[in-house]
Amino acid sequence: MSKLYDAIVIGTGQAGPTLAKRLSDAGMSVAIVERHLFGGTCVNTGCIPTKAMVASAYAAHVARRARDYGVVIDGDVRVDMKSVKARKDAISERSRTGVEKMLRGLERCDVYTGHARLRSAREVAVGDQILTAGRIFLNVGGRAAVPSMPGLDQVPFLTNTSMMALDTAPPHLVIVGGSYVGLEFGQMFRRFGSKVTIIEMAPRLVQREDPEISMAIQDRLTSEGIDLRVNARCIRLGGRAGAITAHVDCQDGSPTVDGTHLLLAVGRQPNTDDLGLDAAGVSRDERGYIVVNDRLETNVPGIWALGDCNGKGAFTHTSYNDFEIVAGNLLDGDSRRVSDRIQAYGLYIDPPLGRAGMTETEAQRSGRKILVGKRPMTRVGRAIEKGETTGMMKIVVDATSREILGAAVFGTGGDEAIHCVLDTMYAKAPYTVLQRAMHIHPTVSELIPTILQELAPPAS
Ligand SMILES: Cc1cc2nc3c(=O)[nH]c(=O)nc-3n(C[C@H](O)[C@H](O)[C@H](O)COP(=O)(O)OP(=O)(O)OC[C@H]3O[C@@H](n4cnc5c(N)ncnc54)[C@H](O)[C@@H]3O)c2cc1C
Repeated sequence: MSKLYDAIVIGTGQAGPTLAKRLSDAGMSVAIVERHLFGGTCVNTGCIPTKAMVASAYAAHVARRARDYGVVIDGDVRVDMKSVKARKDAISERSRTGVEKMLRGLERCDVYTGHARLRSAREVAVGDQILTAGRIFLNVGGRAAVPSMPGLDQVPFLTNTSMMALDTAPPHLVIVGGSYVGLEFGQMFRRFGSKVTIIEMAPRLVQREDPEISMAIQDRLTSEGIDLRVNARCIRLGGRAGAITAHVDCQDGSPTVDGTHLLLAVGRQPNTDDLGLDAAGVSRDERGYIVVNDRLETNVPGIWALGDCNGKGAFTHTSYNDFEIVAGNLLDGDSRRVSDRIQAYGLYIDPPLGRAGMTETEAQRSGRKILVGKRPMTRVGRAIEKGETTGMMKIVVDATSREILGAAVFGTGGDEAIHCVLDTMYAKAPYTVLQRAMHIHPTVSELIPTILQELAPPAS
């Protein structure tokens, strides 16, 4: 069976559904195809469920610290993992069904469930259906990377996807990978009652951050009783369900880490291997990401790639921004480009890290003359009042142009406070504009103008 459309969207991640809606609203006939769960990674196995679980872990943490606030809890604080999971599942489900309902309610959009594969630059096969369109949008996302590691075929392991099914806290969770996904799961399960060991081959966690931010994060996690093994490459896995051993290549510490459960958090890979890209002539890079230009067009006219699968971003907001870029160019006569966006992301441990633009290290490497402002959260009134003084804030500016180059807010409310810096960067305003802004007291953001009044050349 064959059907002709104006546009086909493959994948219902963070770009596809809103794009399908815009195209349909613009009068085009649209087919959208989803092979698994509506809403993709963010909704089902990424941002939404993990942040729901982070919230449960935070509640447990605060309850254990209740005495610090003069609150008495008689008896133990216990975590009911079945309820944690049920809450998380309900939040994800609401979002998933919302996406599906929205799509099925569109006037000119047909929803197909099944695996979509390109047959040519104009044709997509879904089961025995052939869909044809002059415009094809790929929003196929990615999945957890599973490296080829000796022994991995012998031991059971978890990924961010299978973690979602846990309704008990593993007695000892061993996490391979000390970056965003590994740290979020690590801290939350520690707070749920697991013993947690994180193995990271680099000398420090979250390597892309400045060393002082990484160290502050490390201090926070170790203070909560998480065992960190940095400078330790996992070279072999052994054991069996409930008793796994990670053999590590390291200079210090034991060459083995024993635990009950293993989580692999070593990065992501795009879902492009089974998409029929070759049949359509669409180019991929050596890591499998679809090659796109600044307007997210692939090398084949009429085919675009949006979201994680194009390698231009790895976040929900970058995928959504991809939708805005494509829709802007195609439907609004706007000229939007990927290169217009400023890098920004959050790390949702507690306290969170909010990041915008360059790190200090990157700014220094760029050869610019820079000024840096910093403040520990112990000198932020709002943090003191909340009893959450872990972390620091840091802003980097170009001494010559007075542009803000980047910022990191690792501390309570850091994921929100970063936005005043980010928006000033988007406005291309000099830092002096933000320096003179009157912010609300008591907030974390109120100290950002103060930090900008105390800028100094970097220490080295
Ligand atoms: C544990 C974890 C936590 C995260 N937390 C955050 C966070 O806090 N903030 C943030 O911004 N980002 C976070 N992310 C990243 C975020 O989830 C992704 O960047 C985002 O979901 C990317 O969306 P996407 O649009 O590229 O595609 P995806 O959401 O991956 O969706 C792609 C969809 O395409 C479907 N599909 C794939 N191939 C086919 C095919 N051939 N046929 C039909 N359908 C197909 C898939 O089933 C899937 O539904 C997190 C990720 C993980 C793993």
